[in-house]
Amino acid sequence: MAGATRSRPGEGGVALARAASTRESRAGAKAPVAIFGAASSLSSALEPGDLIVATELRSSDGSLCSHLASAGPITAELHRSGLRAHKGPVASAVAFAPLETAMLAGAGVLAVDNESISVLSSWPGHPAAVVRWISNTPGASAESAGGPRPSALGIVRSTLEAWARACGRHEVLLAAPRSFCAGVDRAIETVRRALDRFGSPVYVRRQIVHNLHVVRHLETLGAVFVEELDEVPPEATVVFAAHGVSPAVRSQAAARPDLNVIDATCPLVAKVHSEARRFAAQGHNLVLIGHSNHEEVEGTLGEAPGRFHVVAGTDDVARLDLDPRQSVAFLTQTTLATDQTAEVVTALRERFPLIVAPAADDICYATQNRQDALRSIAHRCDLMLVVGSANSSNTARLVEVARREGCRAELLEDASQLQLGWLDGVTTVGLTAGASAPDFLVQEVLETIGLLGPLTLTEDRTAEEHVRFALPTQVR
Ligand code: SF4
Repeated sequence: MAGATRSRPGEGGVALARAASTRESRAGAKAPVAIFGAASSLSSALEPGDLIVATELRSSDGSLCSHLASAGPITAELHRSGLRAHKGPVASAVAFAPLETAMLAGAGVLAVDNESISVLSSWPGHPAAVVRWISNTPGASAESAGGPRPSALGIVRSTLEAWARACGRHEVLLAAPRSFCAGVDRAIETVRRALDRFGSPVYVRRQIVHNLHVVRHLETLGAVFVEELDEVPPEATVVFAAHGVSPAVRSQAAARPDLNVIDATCPLVAKVHSEARRFAAQGHNLVLIGHSNHEEVEGTLGEAPGRFHVVAGTDDVARLDLDPRQSVAFLTQTTLATDQTAEVVTALRERFPLIVAPAADDICYATQNRQDALRSIAHRCDLMLVVGSANSSNTARLVEVARREGCRAELLEDASQLQLGWLDGVTTVGLTAGASAPDFLVQEVLETIGLLGPLTLTEDRTAEEHVRFALPTQVR
C-alpha cells in the first residue's frame, strides 16, 4: 500500500486554466480549471499508466471536499480515444499516513495525490477536472512505477482542452414529438408480452426496431435475435420485426406449422405492402421511392418480385428505364425525408404525367412529425443532436433534414458518444431522437450537457400524437 504519493505538480492543467480564464472572463463566466498529474493507486485493479478521472476529491481523513461533474464527459472522451481510464474518488493531501491510505482504500477511494485540493483551492467556484495517471500501485516496486505513453499525454491534454471549451451555459431546445412512435411501442410490447405468455426464449427475426439499446434490453428479458427463420428451433415462438417481412418469409413460416409466429409489422408498413399488391394486381409498373438496402424496402419489394424500380433521388428518376406511355404507380418507404421525397414525386410526375399515387401519403405520421419538430427549432440552433442508431432510417433522415436546414447535426447512439469537440463554441443545442430511440437516452444526453455548465431547457412541441395500434391477437 502506498504510504505517500509521488505525484508531480500538474503544471499543464494550471496553464490550461489560466488560458481559459483569460477568454472566459470576457464572457463573465468562471474559467474551467483542469489538473493533470500523477497519483498512487489504492486499488489492485489499477495498473501503472492507467488514468483516473476524479469524480470527487476527499481529504486524508476521507471527508468530501468537492464533487467533480466533469468526470463523466471526460472519461467517455478518453474511452473513445482508446485510453484505459477509470473514474472514481481521489484523495488529496500533502502526505498520507499508512493508516489513512488503508481507510481511504476501504472507503472506495481509487488513488491519492499531493496537490489537487490545494491547487483547486486557488480557483473556488470554477468548473474543475482532475485527471491522474497511476505512477505506482499497491505492493509495486519503485522500479515498476510507470508513466503514461507520450501519445496518451497528448490525448489527455487535448481532451481537457476540449472539455474546457465545451464548458459553459447551454440552452437546449428539445424537439417534440421525438422518440418512440406507435409502431415501435407496439413491436416492443409484442415481444414483452410474448415473453410473459410463452416464456423465454422468444425468437425475433432481425432487430425488432432499429435501436441497439432496445435490442439489448429485450435480450436481457429472454429475446433471441436471429437473421433468418432457419435459425429458429422447432416449436418456438418467433416475432416478425416492425419493419415487416416479404411474402417469401411468410411462406417459409407457413411451411413450419410447429412455429408460433407473431407478426409485429407496423400497420403503416403493412398498408404500403397492401398498396403494392393492389397496384401490382392492376398491372402497373411499380416505382418505390426508398433506400434499397433497408429491410422495410426488402419486404415491400417482395410483394411484387421483379416488378419494382427503386429510386432514392431525382437522378434515379431520370435514369428509369420505363416508357412514359405505360401505366406507372409509385409508393414510398414510410421513413423518408418529406422534403426530398416531394422533389422525387415532382420529378416522377414530370416524367410520367399519368402516374398513379397512393391514396394517402406513405411517409408515416411519426416520421413527418419528428421532421417538422426538428425544422421548427433548427434555425435557432448552433448544433442539432439526433439520438438513435445509424441503421435507423428515420433517425438518419433527421440528421439530413437538419443539415439541409443549415444546422450542424450529429448522430449519437447515446450520451457516451457525445463528443466534447462538438460543443466547442456552441450555445444553443437542438435535441431530438428517432422513432426507435427510447426517450431515456435523450434525458441522459441532457444530463451530460448539464454536467458542462448551467442548462436552460425549452421543449418546442409542434404536434400532439395520440396514435395507438392494437397488438397482434396472440398477445392481446
Ligand atoms: S416510424 Fe412510422 S412506419 Fe415506422 S414503426 Fe413508426 S409509425 Fe410505423
